[in-house]
Amino acid sequence: MSAKIIDGKALANEVKQQVKGEVEKLAAAGIVPGLAVVLVGDDPASQIYVRNKEKSCQELGIKSEVYRLPATTTQEELETLIDRLNADPHVHGILVQLPLPAPLREKEITDRIKPEKDVDGFHPVNLGRLLRGEPGIRPCTPAGIMELIKASRVEVKGRECVVVGRSNIVGKPVFHLLLQEHGTVTVCHSRTPDLVTVTRRADILVVAVGKAGLIDGTMVKPGAVVIDVGVNRLPSGKVVGDVDFSSAQEVAGAITPVPGGVGPMTIAMLMKNTVEAVLLQYGEKLAK
Ligand code: NDP
Repeated sequence: MSAKIIDGKALANEVKQQVKGEVEKLAAAGIVPGLAVVLVGDDPASQIYVRNKEKSCQELGIKSEVYRLPATTTQEELETLIDRLNADPHVHGILVQLPLPAPLREKEITDRIKPEKDVDGFHPVNLGRLLRGEPGIRPCTPAGIMELIKASRVEVKGRECVVVGRSNIVGKPVFHLLLQEHGTVTVCHSRTPDLVTVTRRADILVVAVGKAGLIDGTMVKPGAVVIDVGVNRLPSGKVVGDVDFSSAQEVAGAITPVPGGVGPMTIAMLMKNTVEAVLLQYGEKLAK
């Protein structure tokens, strides 16, 4: 048996087309969604991510402003910029590309962004709303993961779901989103003693660790949906996920590739969150 490949690129394009339609409706009401992206320092991966975000904005008619700041930027300077963007009515979404170079204090910056402009969904208010199951801006990668699961056509309700990784940006939000969809969810991490016993129970397995080949086919339940969030660059330059694709594909029912799975969905959900931020700021009636 060979698993169905869940095509993240195709799904991301569908989401982007929906967003484009929303942007056109807003334009008819005289509103151009604005996304401010703040990039501090010269981390090569961050530069690529920011360029891709800029490109997607251009495709969809979202106005993007990228603030490229030197690594020497002080905490105070960065906070002043966030305050200015918070107050700017043309900026509906603010994204600070992480990680920030030391000694900048990331948490204080994330917390300073107005919750209704927090398109990354990392502000404690938005994470609190997620925990309480209330509407709010959801973190992009976890939201994209849920769309990929939906695309596999496997219902979360009543299923055994296992999330490997418990970071604030991926593992924990995915746990809450799966729980909200009525999955029975287990979260594993570096202190989980017998990972294979747990992962083999999973009807839906989400892996977000950052270790190439951590999960292979022997750790996957036959027929499971496998979502591979990991991005690992091998010494050869090849980018792979956390799941050994070839062995897992033999056992799983559906699986996301790396690249071309979760990555494109993350950007698509950022675009969606930017429009959602506009609606939060102007009221839902504008989009109708
Ligand atoms: P973190 O480093 O913040 O978290 C990794 C998690 O994995 C931790 O909870 C850690 O446990 C757990 N872990 C480490 N080793 C093991 C192990 N041997 N067994 C089980 N669990 C383990 O990473 P992120 O959540 O930020 O990212 C995870 C991966 O996803 C990375 O490769 C990252 O690049 C990728 N990513 C991809 C995105 C995309 O858009 N495609 C977006 C975001 C991330 P503990 O808490 O105990 O330390």
